Amino acid sequence: MITGKTKTLAVIGNPVAHSLSPVFQNAAIEAAGLDYIYTAFPVADGQLGKAIQGMKAFGICGLNVTIPHKEQVMKHLDHVDKDAEILGAVNTIVNKDGVLTGYNTDVKGFIGGMKQLGYAPKGKHAVLLGAGGAARAVIWGLIQEGVASLTIGVRNVPKVRPLVEYFSKYMEITLLDWQTEDFEMALEKAELLVNATPLGMCPYVEAMPPVNWDRVKPGILVYDIIYTPAETLFLKTAKEHGCKVLNGEAMLVGQGAESLRLWTGIEPDLEIMTKALRRALEERKD
Ligand code: NAP
Repeated sequence: MITGKTKTLAVIGNPVAHSLSPVFQNAAIEAAGLDYIYTAFPVADGQLGKAIQGMKAFGICGLNVTIPHKEQVMKHLDHVDKDAEILGAVNTIVNKDGVLTGYNTDVKGFIGGMKQLGYAPKGKHAVLLGAGGAARAVIWGLIQEGVASLTIGVRNVPKVRPLVEYFSKYMEITLLDWQTEDFEMALEKAELLVNATPLGMCPYVEAMPPVNWDRVKPGILVYDIIYTPAETLFLKTAKEHGCKVLNGEAMLVGQGAESLRLWTGIEPDLEIMTKALRRALEERKD
């Protein structure tokens, strides 16, 4: 029951009504018997500073932050943790007695998906397709896990060079046009292949990144961070090629679970969160 003591959590963004976070966060909250609710607040551009002041004024315990506020929100916080600082983006704010700290839980979400499968990226040759916003957490996660090598394949190399230079202080990264022989040679060596492009995401389900599957070793892990559809053409093709596959569902749930852990201290039930997410995605199809 919601009472005057019930604590508030929320996601902010613009737009935010489509967010699935309230669905799986409330499922986890209920399962843990916590006296919290999790809702969504649209925050227009230009209103972010006031919204964060409002967080303090209303005593909102925690926020998730989504597009377009993940970068801009940082300047309104009292502290920012190391992952968020390195990624230049915050997706979680913890309000502790009026002191706001920003975190980025996307890295743990991305890596957690592989760990649930029993797959350890340490010492593996990794190839990443795409280098947009979501790829930053992928790159930082793989660097921290200690991959043996990291190659990024993209359609526009000059655009991505600054990002690669930025992360090169932590690890040597090879950046290649994904239409080249050099990239195909990197594919041959790959033990982990990650798609961080939106190619194949609903409604463009016929699309997929240009991978020459003849050069990919069967048996490697192919990870598509897209979660709608659950099986992209990329993952379907990888499976047919004999690869192990993982979609973006565990990353989405994992980042949310890490946020809930930061706000409440509990270990959220990933299975319950995942079931709630799948149910909501099914209902969305109808
Ligand atoms: P983004 O910033 O738009 O960029 C993704 C990358 O894909 C960029 O390198 C971009 O290249 C490339 N790309 C986009 N459209 C392309 C096309 N038609 N042909 C070739 N390359 C293309 O996207 P994002 O925010 O990083 O998100 C990427 C995907 O990750 C989305 O599908 C999103 O749903 C998913 N995602 C999942 C989670 C999760 O929790 N599972 C979290 C975040 C995002 P250019 O720069 O050249 O356009």
